Amino acid sequence: MAMDPAFDVVVIGAGGAGLAAASTAASCGARVLLVEADKTLGGSTALSGGVVYAAGTSLQRSCGVEDDPAAMARYYMAVNQYKLEAALVSRLCHDSAAVFEWLVSLGVSFPEANLYVSGVDGIRRGHRAAGHGAEIAAALEASLVGQSVETAVATRVRSLVRDETGAVCGINVEGEDVTCRAVVLATGGFGANPTMLAEHFPDALRHPDLAWYIGSRQCKGDGIAMGLTAGGELSTRNRGLLLLTPGFAKELEVYLPGWVAFVNHEGRRFIDETVEYSVHAEVIREQTAGECFAVFDEASRLAATGKPAPNWSAERLAHFAATGHVRSAATVEALAEDIGVRAEAMAETIAAYNRNCAAGHDSDFFKDPQWLRPIATPPFYAARVRPAVICWTGTGLRIDAQARVLDRAGRPIPGLFAAGETTGGMFGPCYAGGGASITNALVYGRVAGRNAAGAA
Ligand SMILES: Cc1cc2nc3c(=O)[nH]c(=O)nc-3n(C[C@H](O)[C@H](O)[C@H](O)COP(=O)(O)OP(=O)(O)OC[C@H]3O[C@@H](n4cnc5c(N)ncnc54)[C@H](O)[C@@H]3O)c2cc1C
Repeated sequence: MAMDPAFDVVVIGAGGAGLAAASTAASCGARVLLVEADKTLGGSTALSGGVVYAAGTSLQRSCGVEDDPAAMARYYMAVNQYKLEAALVSRLCHDSAAVFEWLVSLGVSFPEANLYVSGVDGIRRGHRAAGHGAEIAAALEASLVGQSVETAVATRVRSLVRDETGAVCGINVEGEDVTCRAVVLATGGFGANPTMLAEHFPDALRHPDLAWYIGSRQCKGDGIAMGLTAGGELSTRNRGLLLLTPGFAKELEVYLPGWVAFVNHEGRRFIDETVEYSVHAEVIREQTAGECFAVFDEASRLAATGKPAPNWSAERLAHFAATGHVRSAATVEALAEDIGVRAEAMAETIAAYNRNCAAGHDSDFFKDPQWLRPIATPPFYAARVRPAVICWTGTGLRIDAQARVLDRAGRPIPGLFAAGETTGGMFGPCYAGGGASITNALVYGRVAGRNAAGAA
């Protein structure tokens, strides 16, 4: 007679997805083991801004925002040209409000002032937790108390155990098998693994001198590797969120000041410089050499206050001009020659930009007039800007809407579930809105936990 397994469900990784999975599986009656590589729980989720992207929430209603998940799903698919798994996106959107209300019920505070437009959809769907990602992770961790969840920290899982039928029936930790009925892979993405980045997210290393991952150092793609070994398949490659950087310092500065003009190698503007970070990287990726230049003049430098990015203050910019990080010249044409941009075109672009500033209306890209500052006082400056700061990765194991890991034929691998950055299919060329990544982790963490408990 077969021995009873040590646990019903083993969850590998205790970030947002893993904590949600463990908590949900336990509340469904499963005996759960939660294994975490780090010394503490929380992963990248705890380091995050704590924005949850959701439609149809109580906070939206109390703020008078009319919204519904179907509208969110339509927008999400359209803005990504349908290059996504529609069933996964549909579930993400339709379960987003329930996840938000769950966090509220666990005590996470979302003030009305923290409801904002975090995508390019114009609807306030970004819900930022008052205590950012740390508050979300702490509330999820607290939800384990009193439940049948055993936690092992500082324990890195490297392989799964499978029975003679191929079903997953345990994990191997430091040479010892721990048996269970179902496993949830929730080890996050692979931002801290340069080899996997080169293979699966090459855009992230296009500017290797600047590439820098801001998430947990433990996120090395272990869950993806284990899932592949068990017969799983990867979703579309080259997905993830890159943030812009001028390379001034290894500091996270999500937003550049709105008063710069972005110019490409052809000497042209190509975007409203103040659009959400969710679209910047993809648009700049398509420019020549995958980069652009932030151009400004001495008057703007002198007025620079270091907001929203501390390195963009008058003093710091003077320092970077002296070190050559920011190039400067007495004329726009000379600046263009120096940075390898078509001089005539750039001079024409800046002249047109200055006319727009004088008119108080950006007739080319419709940037908010408050950011229109002429580029007319020498010396002129240019900082090279590239999408190179890696926030999260979006290529991962293919799952279905039940969070079951699929094999290469599209069949669920028995006993194997996955959630969060370990999975793929929910992210296309455009990050639909700030907060979608945590929503993804929590929605599918809960689905995986429920279904893993059911399988057990
Ligand atoms: C600075 C920053 C700000 C962000 N802000 C936002 C935001 O506001 N909104 C949003 O939607 N997204 C944001 N993101 C992205 C978002 O936080 C993540 O995509 C999401 O939280 C991932 O959740 P996860 O559970 O999949 O992974 P994680 O939270 O990273 O959890 C994975 C866990 O697995 C553990 N682990 C890894 N390998 C193993 C192993 N072999 N064995 C055991 N354990 C292992 C890790 O230590 C980690 O604890 C941000 C990311 C960063 C870095």
